[in-house]
Order: sequence, then structure tokens, then C-alpha cells
Amino acid sequence: MNTVQDIKSMQRLSREWHAKGKSIAFVPTMGYLHAGHLSLVEVAKEKADIVVVSIFVNPLQFSPIEDLNCYPQDFIRDKTLCSDAGVTTIFHPSNDEMYSADYSTQIVENQLSKPLCGKSRPTHFPGVTTVVCKLFLAVLPDIAVFGRKDAQQALVIKRMVRDLNFPIEVIVTPTVREIDGLAMSSRNKYLDAEERKNALSIHRGLGVAEEAYDRGERSSDALRRLVKNEIEETGGTVDYIEFVDEGSLATVDRIEKPVLVAVAAKFGDTRLIDNCTLG
Ligand code: AMP
Repeated sequence: MNTVQDIKSMQRLSREWHAKGKSIAFVPTMGYLHAGHLSLVEVAKEKADIVVVSIFVNPLQFSPIEDLNCYPQDFIRDKTLCSDAGVTTIFHPSNDEMYSADYSTQIVENQLSKPLCGKSRPTHFPGVTTVVCKLFLAVLPDIAVFGRKDAQQALVIKRMVRDLNFPIEVIVTPTVREIDGLAMSSRNKYLDAEERKNALSIHRGLGVAEEAYDRGERSSDALRRLVKNEIEETGGTVDYIEFVDEGSLATVDRIEKPVLVAVAAKFGDTRLIDNCTLG
């Protein structure tokens, strides 16, 4: 496994692979890898000859009051995990390599980026679409793999790929959880023991909603109250609990077909997201 730090070398390498008839699957990450990331690598390995993982903490998707400066990083550990997982190449550009001082272009998706996380983090998705677009043009993949854990992000990326004609197949894979059900996230590292215990209330709340749905409850408001109670009982602060159409992210009041239940909540200073599908 090798590490590439500049865009031109990455593009050259990818063109060489393509010239040899090899397919490339790409897994974009911000590093501090866990089993969730590695599950994306497994799918990438099944789908293509070459697997490229990018590790880049993208400043553009953090607002000035967010956790950019303390976002967890451990490149040595990430390298070992990638090498053991059979990754071909890590793309690990610096900030300067990705954004020149007078950088002035953004890619903005204007529909699916608006609700859910887009409301509380209005600059987040423009930062994500811009960096993913740039990473796609550096890695030149045939396939890109994203996690369902960030369901809105996956939808936004799919829309960008369709709208801008990227010749890339986007694959979305299931959320990987800790044994007790907490969705794996690099940000879980911020949680102290008490917050870690309380954070499980998101998963528990989604479970309670699923049970109520199975017993016949179809009102989003009634189900929302159940999830909210679970989270607030532990002292968590709900940002949103939304019942939305899985394709359009439009709000759903009565559940007649599959809906995405998307949750964001804070435990201490740590904002976590999770989701499930009902129906
Ligand atoms: P991140 O490094 O958090 O930006 O995540 C990089 C990719 O890994 C994104 O496509 C995420 O959706 C995916 N991912 C993060 N956590 C998980 C998880 N627990 N299970 C599956 N995929 C995940």
C-alpha cells in the first residue's frame, strides 16, 4: 500500500490503472478510522480491482464554531488499518494541496441539502459536495462507497453525481454499530463514560419507535415523541427527529411507505447523528 499526497500524482496513478483496464473504488473519509469505515472498504474490494481511501479533514464542511481543530486524527493507526484491510492507496492531501489561498469555487446542491443537518449546519453540505467533487476529480474512481449512517450526505452526493454527470456509481452501505447499538463514529471519542451511556438513547429511541410502528402506530408526531422522550430522559439535547421520504427528504406525517427516521442530538458538546428506516 502506498500513500499519495498530491493531486497530480493521484490522477496519474488512476489513469495508469484505468489504462491497464483496472476498476477503481473510492472510499472518502476524514480518518480516525473505525469498523464502519472498514466495512466500506470491504464493499469497495468486492466491487473493484483497486481501492483508494482518502483521509482528509475538510475544513470547508466545519463552521467556525465546530470541532475542526480537535477532530480526532491518528494517521499512523489509519495507515495500519488500511494496509491490513487490503487498501491499494491512501490519498492524504494537505489543506494547501486541496485549497489554494485564493480558492473561490463551490459546488452547492440546493434541495436535499436544506432540511435535517442542513438547517442546523447551513455551510456543511456545500463543504461536503465541494470536497467530494474535488476528491472525485483527483481519484477518478468508477465506484464510490458511502455509509448509510450519513443518509442525507449519501443522498446529496448521489444527486450531485447525477446532476453533474460524474461517471461514478455511488454505493451506500449499512451502518456499523458498537455491540450495544451505538452507531460507530469518529466523534464517539469525545464522549466521556456518562455521555457514552446516554448517547445510546438515540439507538434505544429509534428501537422504541420501531416497536410502536410494528404495533401499528403510523403517526410521525406520536413516534417522534417516543424517540424524544428516550433522548431527553438521559439529558441529551435533540437537534432534530425527522420523519422524511427516503428519496426526497420531504416531511412525512403519516407513514404509508418506507420513511427515513433521522436523528441528531447532543450529549455534552458532542453532536451525534443516527437513523433507521420504518416501513
Ligand atoms: P467520516 O470519516 O465520518 O466522514 O465518514 C466517512 C464515510 O464513512 C462516510 O461515507 C460515512 O457515512 C461512513 N461511515 C461513518 N460511520 C459509519 C458507520 N458507523 N457505519 C458505516 N459507515 C460509516
